[in-house]
Parts: sequence; C-alpha cells; structure tokens
Amino acid sequence: MPGPIRNPAIQYTKLFINNEFVDSVSGKTFSTSNPVTEEKICDVAEGDKADVNKAVEAAKTAFKLGSPWRTMDASQRGRLLYKLADLVERDSNYLASLETLDSGKLFVDSADDMDIVVKCLRYYAGWADKISGKTIAADGPYFVYTRHEPVGVVGAITPWNFPLALLVLKVAPAVACGNVVIAKPAEQTPLTALYFGSLITEAGFPAGVVNIISGFGPTAGAAISQHMEINKVSFTGSTEVARLIQAAAAASNLKRLTLELGGKSPNIVLADSDLDYAVEYSHSALFFNQGQCCSAGSRTFVQDTIYDEFVKKSVERAQKRTVGDPFDDSVEQGPQIDQEQFDKILELIESGKKEGAKLECGGARHGSKGFFIQPTVFSGVKDGMRIAKEEIFGPVQQIIKFSDIDEVIERANNTAYGLAAAVFTKDIDKATTISHSLQAGTVWVNCYEAGAPQSPFGGFKMSGQGREWGEYGLLPYLEVKTVVTKI
Ligand code: NAD
Repeated sequence: MPGPIRNPAIQYTKLFINNEFVDSVSGKTFSTSNPVTEEKICDVAEGDKADVNKAVEAAKTAFKLGSPWRTMDASQRGRLLYKLADLVERDSNYLASLETLDSGKLFVDSADDMDIVVKCLRYYAGWADKISGKTIAADGPYFVYTRHEPVGVVGAITPWNFPLALLVLKVAPAVACGNVVIAKPAEQTPLTALYFGSLITEAGFPAGVVNIISGFGPTAGAAISQHMEINKVSFTGSTEVARLIQAAAAASNLKRLTLELGGKSPNIVLADSDLDYAVEYSHSALFFNQGQCCSAGSRTFVQDTIYDEFVKKSVERAQKRTVGDPFDDSVEQGPQIDQEQFDKILELIESGKKEGAKLECGGARHGSKGFFIQPTVFSGVKDGMRIAKEEIFGPVQQIIKFSDIDEVIERANNTAYGLAAAVFTKDIDKATTISHSLQAGTVWVNCYEAGAPQSPFGGFKMSGQGREWGEYGLLPYLEVKTVVTKI
C-alpha cells in the first residue's frame, strides 16, 4: 500500500438509491466531523423515512420476478461480487484514508479493514453458486425437495467502529443469496459507505440491488426497522438499540433479525501461561481500535499467584502506548469517535475510582484537542463495580484477581453478555475445559481477535442472535422452501 492520503478528496456525500447519488427528499444534510480536530469534514445528505421508502421501491423493483437480478445466474452474481472486491482493492488506500479521516481509526487498522472487506466479498462471491437445497426421503408417493430462496428486501444497520467492514459483512452474504439491500451506515462515519455505492455501480450491479442511506438512527434507522416491506434486518450495534429494533419488528411485519451486539468479554490468564506473551495479548485485546471493539477483552481475570507481576507489566506496557495522529504509523492509539463516547468513558473512569478500584495509570484526557484519552489501567477491580459490568468502549483495562478455575468460570459467565472470551495457559486440558464452559460465541485460546472469513462470529445471551461470517452467515439471508409433488 502506498501510504495514507492525509486529505482525501470527498467525492460522494449524497444518498445512493437505484444506482444514483441523490439529495434527500427533505433536502436536509448533517455534518460529519474529524475526531482528531473536532472540526467538520463535510455535509452529507440526511436520509429519513421518505428516503427509506424510495429505496425500498427501488429495491422491490430490482427484486421483481423476471427482473435482471432475479433471472441472473448465481455464478454471475458471484462474478459481480468478485469484481466489487477488485474495485475495493484498487481503491483501498483511498478508502482506508477516508475511513481514518472520518473515524479517527489508525490508518494501519483502516487498511486492515479494507483487506477484510476484500476477503469478505471474495468469500461470499464464492458461495453465490454453491447454495443448494436437498432432495428429501419423505414418506408416501411424493417427490420432496427444498429450495433456498432469498428473503427479499434486507435492511442493514451498522455502527461506527468498523464502518465499511461491518456494512460489507451484511451486503456481501445478502447479495450472494440474491437479496436486495437498504444499508444505513452510522451517522458518525458515512463517507466510506457512500463511496462504496459508486463501486456498486462500477461493478455492474443492476439498479436498486444495493442502496445506501446516510442518516440518523431514530429516523432513517427506525424507518428501516418499522418498514412493512423490509423482510429482514441485520443490525450491529448496542443492546439498547437492538431492543428498539426488536420492538419495531414485532410491531410491524415480524421481520427476521440478525443482531450483533455488545460484550463484556472475559480474558482469563492462568498462572502457567507465558507471562510476557499474555500481558501483550491482553493489552491489545483491550486497547485495539481505541478499546472500541464489541469483543474487547474488557475483564482481564488474572490468577492470584501472578497477579501483582501481571499488573506491573501491564501498566508498563500501557504507559509506553503512543497516542496521537492516527495517520502516523508510529502511533498506537487515536481518538475516540465523538464527544458522547469521550464523556461516557471519562464518567466510567470516575465511577471506578469512586467504587474503590485502584487507578494504576491514565484516567484523563490526552492533550487539549480531539477526543483522545490516556491509556488507563485499573487493578483491584471487583465484579460488582460498574467498570466490571458495563461496556466502556474505550482504552480502559480492568484487571481482576481470581484463585481457581471453577471460580473464574462462574464469575466470567456472570454477565448478561456472551460475545467472546479468551484463555491463556500452556495446559491444553485446562484450555479445553474452560473453553467448553464459557458462555460465549467465540473463545480464543492463547490468542485474541483471531478470525477468518470461514469462522462464524456472534453472541450468546444479550450479545446477539444469529451468526455472521462463514457458511452460518448465509443462513439468515435465506428462506427454505419445501416443494412436494405427488408422483
Ligand atoms: P448504536 O446502537 O448506537 O448504533 C448502531 C446503529 O444503529 C447506527 O447506525 C445508528 O444510527 C442506528 N440506530 C440508532 N438508533 C436506532 C433506532 N432507534 N432504530 C434503528 N437504528 C438505530 O451503536 P454504536 O454506538 O454505533 O456502536 C457501538 C455498539 O455496537 C457497542 O455496543 C458495540 O459492542 C456494538 N458492536 C457490536 C459488534 C458485534 O459484531 N457484535 C461489532 C461492533 C460493534
């Protein structure tokens, strides 16, 4: 990759409907801003219910029986996705720069996100012509078979922490299965999603197959979740908003839902682990992406015999962490996304101090401009404290002491969430016992945040419903039809 473009030209700021960039029906716009400078980047069209309705009409037309999309060979759908992957790859340096400008993510992490986008598109491109039903050995004089058919119009609502990657993780499987999509990126980070719209047209997708509506959650997002002709919503975001979407689905057409939500993931370090290795992984498990990661290792459970040494080394590591310009490749931590998240994190840090956790380092704003927070480590954290229970979504590590395995399994599972977990140990028996006992959609052993397009990801309990990635990630976008013929 040639390196970041510090001031990427902004090319697309309008809604993408029916393969065209258009103003919102209301003519309203909102501004997106740079978390490093707190200054406006540009104005973007503000879509709401009227625009969602327009996009649904375009999508329904694209999905009509006999339309170019419905009659297209599955292998051709795959070729369009492969072409789209090539275009993202061609523009990945620009896209990564735009992502960093809009979100404050490190440029290196935005570049990794673009690699993930390309891999995701290619992975699901390969599936397009491999989705098959079965012939069923049914009782009686019947020929019975199943067909896997697209669910129809799919809404995709996504957050700001992996802006383009999480949006494409919904668009790619939906399109591979033959659906049509209305996607709404987070209001904080609309720019890469709108640019992606231009690549949809360039790749050759028929008009109306993918539509992108920038706008706010309570207006555009709610219009998607309430719409009677949107058959499915795939949502990634907070548990609170998921409740609103579930209620809207219940009150409208009982649309199918996939929910990828928050977490408070336990990261368990046993006394027999390689200490320096576990300290480094536990550090990045929490601080990666400014701590703004649904699967962050946000409860670091450390066995009592190594606890003091682990805390000392973790504090030294956090104090070495470089904070600053996300375009600079020597920097490890950029700003938080916005004022609201910044204030929420500082408030939770204050609660930790008040509730008696020991602030080992950090705990305050970094610098005087931008939403930067010092890398923060708490020790002496107890399970009942807010910092041990609530999702902080910031660069704040909680180190919690435990003494034996049964105890730590019970305490690790004592949360409403169940997205991810990790175990560090050299003992494979202990690793397996703990992995099988934890209530989490993913358990990492001696690693963290490792994954591949083939591996499903999603949550137990209040961390979500359904799975994304892998073959499991296709199922939510398909209806199973049974055809019974008397013979
Ligand atoms: P959020 O729930 O506030 O917003 C997510 C999206 O929902 C945005 O596009 C927003 O506009 C929209 N939205 C808001 N109100 C809405 C409404 N009433 N109806 C419909 N849509 C609405 O979440 P966030 O603050 O952007 O993201 C952080 C959260 O996302 C964290 O809880 C994090 O753990 C979670 N997350 C989960 C995963 C995962 O894969 N499980 C991945 C990333 C983030």
